[in-house]
Amino acid sequence: MARNTLTAALNAVPDPMLFIGSDGMIELINPATEALFGGWVRGRSYITALRQPALLGEIDSVLRGNPPSETRYVKSDQTGETQFRVKVSPIGAIDAGQPGVLLHFTDITHLREAEEMRRDFVANVSHELRSPLTAVLGFIETLRGPARDDASASDRFLEIMEQQALRMNRLVGDLLSLSRVESEERVRPSEDVDLSDVISGVLTTLRPQAEEQGSALDLVTEPGTYLIRGDRDQLTQVFTNLTENALKYGGRGRPVTVRLETGEGRGSMRGPVVRVEVIDRGEGIDSMHLPRLTERFYRIDSHRSREMGGTGLGLAIVKHIINRHRGRLRIASEKGKGSTFTVVLPR
Ligand code: ADP
Repeated sequence: MARNTLTAALNAVPDPMLFIGSDGMIELINPATEALFGGWVRGRSYITALRQPALLGEIDSVLRGNPPSETRYVKSDQTGETQFRVKVSPIGAIDAGQPGVLLHFTDITHLREAEEMRRDFVANVSHELRSPLTAVLGFIETLRGPARDDASASDRFLEIMEQQALRMNRLVGDLLSLSRVESEERVRPSEDVDLSDVISGVLTTLRPQAEEQGSALDLVTEPGTYLIRGDRDQLTQVFTNLTENALKYGGRGRPVTVRLETGEGRGSMRGPVVRVEVIDRGEGIDSMHLPRLTERFYRIDSHRSREMGGTGLGLAIVKHIINRHRGRLRIASEKGKGSTFTVVLPR
């Protein structure tokens, strides 16, 4: 192969690639390799330039005539770790020289991260399902054995079993919602939806719950038109989750207000918008939690959340739906005074 043909080919590839001659010297590098390692590696021995034993071993083996292989390479710097899959392939002589080895680096950091997230997610789901399941199995055993003839104990146990089964049901329901919402995230919603209608519907549904806990639930609508492009069911879910949270974490007897206004967006949301604020006067959220609140299963107080029937998925669902609507969620909170969850949607 002609050296300039190979050079042109390497330069056309966006991934880092380099050619090592049979004497172990790095003969050619492309711009991506220069950006990754620096230009100094050109003309150096691959052992000095690449250093990581797994990769050095594979290069050595291919240089000695073994078949092509693949390995991993991790580049660390101040900004973090980048993980590469490296293909090590033998390549014929360049011009009149000796054959050598071609390296191709593919950045797989995001694949690794996705893999990790998936693993965490499965571990979280299993953990969430395990405790209610263990409780139900335990009570079945008790009902068959020691409590067999005790009618009042049986009633009590059946009630607990029902609560635990309902908890599993809520979790499975939220998981299905989350996966549906995620799969639709890239599809633009196409219905014309009157947001003030959606929100009055949500408040009507939640009013009995507010009354039961002695909390006033008010809707304040500033004059304006609230027609947006959206998905009615999903928007109903957003404001149900936010208002339910405001009631739950706002506390018994404390009022919750939902405010609707139209306005002009700022920054990346320039143009006409609808702004909905869900305001509670609860104990508020420490600012260290705010950035992580919309992560799946992230809770400030897991025990409290579970006790109130929470799955830890509500805000994750909210975030995905708002993303699909090209909107924004802002959370402001002051310890001891309450929290305001603001949804901004393009109009
Ligand atoms: P959960 O099912 O636990 O309510 P969410 O995803 O809806 O799950 O909320 C995640 C966590 O955020 C909750 O566990 C709670 O700690 C916190 N949180 C949500 N809304 C509020 C609020 N209005 N006030 C205080 N904390 C809140």
